Amino acid sequence: MQKEAVAVKPIRSLEDAIFRCQVLGMRLSRQRRFILELLWQAKEHLSAREIYDRLNQQGKAIGHTSVYQNLEALSSQGIIECIERSEGRLYGNISDAHSHINCLDTNQILDVHVELPEALIREIEQQTGVRITNYSIDFYGYRQIEQGRVGE
Ligand SMILES: [Zn+2]
Repeated sequence: MQKEAVAVKPIRSLEDAIFRCQVLGMRLSRQRRFILELLWQAKEHLSAREIYDRLNQQGKAIGHTSVYQNLEALSSQGIIECIERSEGRLYGNISDAHSHINCLDTNQILDVHVELPEALIREIEQQTGVRITNYSIDFYGYRQIEQGRVGE
């Protein structure tokens, strides 16, 4: 099997994300660090507006423009995730391929790593003639299962 020549280690923590910035020679301003910290704390998909609000609520003064510029820089370098929704862009901490569970009732998007069986991938490759290198699945559903609560 052929392997990709440049294997980039996936970002799995805030430290990895900071390290990736340094490797890429990106300036790590205080504001940029605030944003990375928040995304790794929250582990949600947030809009630029929500990121701005939360940081300012935490007493971390950061301007609107700075939030937008940093999100743009971080997502274009593949350090954070950016997803396009009809309501606008959302940003998340996981930048490598992963799947989403879209909760239709709460509007939440949960990250999940799903690994399809090799046989299924081979089958899809044979059907389409495309060598699959990555995939991401969008699941949709309702939050009917209350976590940690039984009998409701
Ligand atoms: Zn995600």
